[in-house]
Amino acid sequence: MEQKRCITSLTAEQLTAELKAMGQPGFRAKQIFRWVHQKLVTEFSQMTDQPKNLIAQLEQSFYIAAPQIERRQEAKDGTVKYLLRMADGNCIETVVMRYHYGNTVCVSTQVGCRMGCRFCASTQAGRVRDLEAGEICSEIYTAQKDIGERISHIVLMGIGEPLDNYDQVMTFLHLISSPEGVNIGMRNISLSTCGLVPMIDRLAQEKLQLTLSVSLHAPNNEIRSSMMPVNNAYPVEPLMEAVRRYQDTTGRRVSFEYSMVRGVNDTDACARQLAHLIRGMGAHVNLIPINPVDGSPYSATDAENVRRFQTKLTSLGVNATVRRRLGSEISAACGQLRREEMQGKA
Ligand code: SAH
Repeated sequence: MEQKRCITSLTAEQLTAELKAMGQPGFRAKQIFRWVHQKLVTEFSQMTDQPKNLIAQLEQSFYIAAPQIERRQEAKDGTVKYLLRMADGNCIETVVMRYHYGNTVCVSTQVGCRMGCRFCASTQAGRVRDLEAGEICSEIYTAQKDIGERISHIVLMGIGEPLDNYDQVMTFLHLISSPEGVNIGMRNISLSTCGLVPMIDRLAQEKLQLTLSVSLHAPNNEIRSSMMPVNNAYPVEPLMEAVRRYQDTTGRRVSFEYSMVRGVNDTDACARQLAHLIRGMGAHVNLIPINPVDGSPYSATDAENVRRFQTKLTSLGVNATVRRRLGSEISAACGQLRREEMQGKA
C-alpha cells in the first residue's frame, strides 16, 4: 500500500489541487486547511462539517502531523521542554519559553544535524532525516495546545540546520504565517543558521520580514574552524559578505549568536576582533555561555567574563546583550534530551 502523506505539509493551493482531484469543491480545501492549521485537530473525524465519505477518503491517503509528547520537563520560570515522537518513531525536541512579549517556541527542523559543531549535542549522531513542513508546524501546535496559550513567536533554533532543509523550512514559514492558520507574523520569527553562504543568498531573495541570526561564535577562521567544521567550507570573510548582501537586499538587520567557551573565544583579543568585524553593520550580538555537553572538551565562560566581554563590545560600538538562560535547570543544551532517548534505546 502507498504510504500516507502528511496533510499538514500541504499549502492551501496544494490542498485545493488534491481535493479537486478527488472531485471536491474548493471550499472544502479551505475548511480542511482551517481544521488543521487553526483549530489544530489531530484526527480527520474531528472535522465535523466534512462529509463522512470524504473523511474516510482523507484517512486513506493522508495523516495529520500529531507528535506524541514522549517526555515533558517544566522549569520554575515556566520554560517547557518537550521530547516529541514523530509518526515514524524518531524523536525531536521543542521548547516553549515565556517572555514578557509572548510565548516563544524553539523548533527543530531536522532529526539530528550534519553540521558537526563541536559544542553541540544535536549533531553528535549526525542527521537522520529532514523534517517536513507540517511536522515543524506540529511542534508549535502541540506546544500551544499543551500550555493552553497562544504562541506568538518562533525561533528556528532547535535541532537541525534550517538552511540545510531549505524547501521544507520555506513551506513551514508560509504555512505558519498564513492568516488561515495560526497566523504568526514573519517579524516574530527568527531563523538561525551556522552560515551556509549560498543558502543565505537564496534566503535574501525571498525578502522575508523574519530575523536572520548567524551563529558566528568566533571572530577569525582559526578559532571558528576549530569549533565549527562548516567554517572550512564558508569561512568568516565570505560569510560576513553574505550577511552584508542579506542586509542590503532585505533591509533587515542580522543578529549574531556568540556562545562563549572558556579560553577559546572569550578573550579580550576576541572581543576586539569581533567588534572590528561587525562594527558599523547595525547588527546585534547575543552572548551566551556555552552549555557544556558530554563528550565535548568545552567549558563555559563564567558570568563575570561574559559581562566583561559584553562591556568591551559595547565600548567598541557593538550592540551586545547577554541572553538569559531560561529553564537552565531542565534545559540541558539543545539535543540532549533526544540523545538521552537514543542512548536509552541503544
Ligand atoms: N543550526 C542552526 C540552528 C540550531 S542551533 C545554527 O547553527 O544556528 C541554535 C543555536 O544554539 C546556535 O547558535 C548554536 O550554535 C547554539 N548552540 C548549540 N549547542 C550549544 C551549546 N551547547 N551551548 C551554547 N550554544 C549552543
